Order: sequence, then structure tokens, then C-alpha cells
Amino acid sequence: MVTACQGDSVPHPVQQLHHVTATVAEAQPDLDFCERQLGLRLVKRTVNFDNHSVYHFYYGTEAGAPGTIWTTFPYHGWNVPQGTHGAGQIVATAFSVPPGSLAFWRTRLAAGGFTTTARPPRLGQPVLAVRDPSGLVLELVEDLRDTRPPWDGGIPTGSAIRGLHSVTLLLHAREPTIELMTGLLGFRIVREEGARTRLAAGTDAPGHLADLVEAPGAPPGRNGLGTVHHVAFAIGSAAAQLALRAELVGAGRDVTEVRDRTYFQSIYFREPGGVLFEVATTAPGFAVDEPPAELGRSLRLPPWEESHRATIEATLPPIDR
Ligand code: ZN
Repeated sequence: MVTACQGDSVPHPVQQLHHVTATVAEAQPDLDFCERQLGLRLVKRTVNFDNHSVYHFYYGTEAGAPGTIWTTFPYHGWNVPQGTHGAGQIVATAFSVPPGSLAFWRTRLAAGGFTTTARPPRLGQPVLAVRDPSGLVLELVEDLRDTRPPWDGGIPTGSAIRGLHSVTLLLHAREPTIELMTGLLGFRIVREEGARTRLAAGTDAPGHLADLVEAPGAPPGRNGLGTVHHVAFAIGSAAAQLALRAELVGAGRDVTEVRDRTYFQSIYFREPGGVLFEVATTAPGFAVDEPPAELGRSLRLPPWEESHRATIEATLPPIDR
């Protein structure tokens, strides 16, 4: 893992993005979009550990490396209203694609019935936006520095997604968030363009980036279908996570206890602008409960729920893959 530029004053910094999690509507359209349209690999099919009647899908590249993971909770049928995009939220999640590939993506997504929007170049990079079946804003960013291998999900290698590129936080005021992220979390400011400040953890490569966009008059976001629930950052060890947790608590943040997510351990807290942050360990990873070649093929449950498998499977909507 890259550890350059962390600075001596930040002993337990995060390393990069780990995953981004969204609340979506129906399971099947989500699977179809992420696997067939985007060419991501379903690396884990499990349930929401807080509601076992709702799937938790993890999509990524081959092994589900930190920084490549997009995860969804399909909450259709649970009376969860459509969310509102606004301040205090991740309003866009960007994936990294090779230079020159946006024309391919525009054609591919249009053929799948999805409308794309070309954004003005962002910090010098071309950006194409698309809304997923639930209304989430996803972006594809051409970045020539991305050396991560793609998953062979049916997309030509020269166009395939390499992993997460960045997330965009919409904030009424960015300074308090910058202070937290460049302080205890170990980010640094790498670029500024108008109302957008780009922060990076570790290096400034794709998968390490968070953009803060200040919009004092923006309406507040509201969680619901079609919104990002939280962003998770990777940390190198459980010990570093505990140390960071203690520092966050000492700084007055309300932080959860460490939670066992089977594939990683997590703590959660809200940053000053209201966005829910998670800090997740990189270990043990998605191969802890099924072989790498079979990731995502069957429903995996945490060990403490295996005795309820039949009941849980009966309540989940059927899916076709
Ligand atoms: Zn998470």
C-alpha cells in the first residue's frame, strides 16, 4: 500500500477509498446495470447485516480490492421513499476509465437505454455522467494514471472500469470537513477549481480522491432510494483503526464501536457537513468465506446467521444472473 506524503503529524491516516455504499430500489435491475452495463464483478452476495431480508451486493474488480468497491442495498418493497440529492451527501460516485473511452461508454449506455451527460472537464479530465436505475449519479472519468487491472466483465480492456476514481461531497461549508480530513484522516489538498476542492489520501491516483463541493444554498440531502448512504476509507490494520477511533472520539466526534462486517471491520461517524464516513480495515477481504474464483456466485451469510439461512433465503427477492 502506498504510504507517501502521509506526514508525521498523522500517525494513523486512511490510505484510499475502500468502498461506496448506496441505497437502491429493486435488486434485479441493480444487478443487471452493474454487471451487464458497467461490467463490474459481483464479488459478494450477502445480506444487510442490520436487515437480513435485504440483499447487500458488493461489486468490484477481480478480487474486490479496496478502492474498487461499489455496494448496494436494494430496499424496494420496504416503504423507503426516494431520496433527495443535496447537501450533506455524496452526490456523485466516479469510476476510472482509460483515456479515450468515453465515446465507447456513451454508445454502450445509450444502447442499454441509459441517458448520459457529458460534464465539463473536471480538473482537466473528461467526465461522463449517467443515472443508474435508481437515480444515483455515477460518473466515468478518463484518467491515464490508473494502472489497476480491470475485471473481464465483457467490456473491452481498453475501455473497462479500473475501480473507483473519486467521490463528490456536496457541503454547505467545506472548511470544517477539510479540517477533519486533512487532520486526523490524513488527506491533503491536491487541487482546487472554483467551488471544488480535491483531497487525496496516500497518493493522488484514482481511488484515493474525495472532492468537496461547497454550495451554501443547496437544499439538504435526504437518505432514501437512489442516494449514497456512506463512503468508506481504507485503513491498514485493526490497531490503526482503534487508534484513529480514539483520536476521533478525543476530537469530539461521535464514533461507533468497531463492527465486524465479515470482510472488514468498520467504524462509522459523521463528518461536520453531515456525510456518513466509515473507516474499514483492508483485511480479511472477500475471499474469507468463498474461493476467489467463486466470489459472488452464492449467498454468503455471516457465521452467526447460518442457522437462519432457510428463513433468510425465503424472504429475499428472487434474482436471475
Ligand atoms: Zn460500508
